[in-house]
Amino acid sequence: MSGSERVLRIEGLRACVGDVEILNGIDLEVRPGEVHAVMGPNGSGKSTLSHVLMGRPGYTVTGGTATIDGVDLLGLATWERAQAGLFLCLQHPTEVPGVSLDALLAEAARAGGRDVVAVHDALRTEAGRLGIDERFLDRPLNVDLSGGEKKRNETLQLGALGARYAVLDEIDSGLDVDALATVSRRIQEATDEDGLGVLAITHFSRLLEVLEPDRVHVLAHGTIAASGGPELVDRLEAEGYGGVLGDAAADEPETSVGLPHAADFGEDPFADPLA
Ligand code: ADP
Ligand code: MG
Repeated sequence: MSGSERVLRIEGLRACVGDVEILNGIDLEVRPGEVHAVMGPNGSGKSTLSHVLMGRPGYTVTGGTATIDGVDLLGLATWERAQAGLFLCLQHPTEVPGVSLDALLAEAARAGGRDVVAVHDALRTEAGRLGIDERFLDRPLNVDLSGGEKKRNETLQLGALGARYAVLDEIDSGLDVDALATVSRRIQEATDEDGLGVLAITHFSRLLEVLEPDRVHVLAHGTIAASGGPELVDRLEAEGYGGVLGDAAADEPETSVGLPHAADFGEDPFADPLA
């Protein structure tokens, strides 16, 4: 690692789908060990931010930069972003018939020139920490799992791969209360023990009771409309987005009307085959 500053830095990030700008200039800095919560009304651009950071096809970056520990992310292929230390927990994890979690992580380890046996062992250790039965590790990835089991699987991969920064897109959706506690505790531990930096997209304060945010940001119309400390979560619970942002900012944009879908742009490894 060079002597460059350790930070996931997003500056003035703008991105379009078709002709419509969805991200209108995002500025965020996540340092190792920090948790930044991103909240915001439906359609405000939260998932788009996660997809643009990870390089999902179908989005055009029209301005700004995103770097990870000094490395330009936007110039890299998705797998290279992963190798650079970025991990995305998808809102809707993909099912991959024929490929086990074990095989997937072995391949990821090889591609990154890492010790395959160490990653294999890390996967078992992680499964133990998350209370996941080892027989899941040999089954085809996410196939026939419940929504909550898929989210636990994402957390398992995050831990086993030892990513440096994680974007969690609604990791809490689909998890029952016990699984939510386990998953959020594991991620909190990764921030404390390994200095994982986290961008946690969520609608619910429950996740943030265990995974304690250093900063809370509210996205509206593709831009960060408000930022604050953890107390902002309580204000949002009490007053809603309208109360915190004013009614205009909380209105859902109509950007999706007539837009092409990302799937129309060709091969999309992020697509949910069941959608
Ligand atoms: P959020 O995650 O905050 O609910 P999204 O980032 O999913 O919002 O979407 C923001 C806006 O951009 C929505 O209006 C959505 O319909 C539109 N959008 C995002 N991605 C695409 C896409 N690939 N194709 C068409 N519209 C999209
Ligand atoms: Mg979303």
